[in-house]
Amino acid sequence: RVGELFTRRIAGEPIAYLVGTREFYGLRFEVTPAVLIPRPETELLVELAIDRLPRQSRVLDMGTGSGAIAVAIAYSRRDAAVSAIDLSDAALALARRNAAHHAVPVQLLRSDSYAALTDQHFDMIVANPPYIVDGDHHLSEGDLRFEPVDALTDHADGLSALRIIINGATAFLDSAGWLLLEHGYDQATAVRALLNAAQFTDVQSWPD
Ligand code: GLN
Repeated sequence: RVGELFTRRIAGEPIAYLVGTREFYGLRFEVTPAVLIPRPETELLVELAIDRLPRQSRVLDMGTGSGAIAVAIAYSRRDAAVSAIDLSDAALALARRNAAHHAVPVQLLRSDSYAALTDQHFDMIVANPPYIVDGDHHLSEGDLRFEPVDALTDHADGLSALRIIINGATAFLDSAGWLLLEHGYDQATAVRALLNAAQFTDVQSWPD
């Protein structure tokens, strides 16, 4: 078994897929090649979310994948009602197992962006969407070669998923609500412009 794992690792397969787990925010997450491997950078998004979340509020995680962000928030903030959506049934099944493993209630729903959400309002929306530009060389290097490509890139300018989330958010957010997004290292100016154009105030960028 070690020999087989060694061979797969030599071929570049990420450790997280070989062992089937990855630690995120101090919690153990089951991962499969159906989802992005949770990254330490994204822990900043969780910290900022927890800091800003009012008591007893409703949070939506868009494109939850393994459920890492949603489960970490639900685990740290037992007062929060956490919902999470994803387009992938395999991701939803995995997120359900990760929520169950940590015994936190996360409401999971299959949805293409906001499509399946009707009449729901949130105090906060969080997302780590696919933001890598089509054709970026990182997509064909290292761990990324083994991760689900639709979780990494929008196959366009890298901003299209961010645009959809930002432009749709106001319909689902309370007026004092927060939208917290992870984006690429070179996208801060563009993302702030999108947020300002969508009438968001108190727009901030945080390098992770
Ligand atoms: N930050 C990740 C990477 O550079 C990409 C995550 C994403 O596209 N949401 O590998």
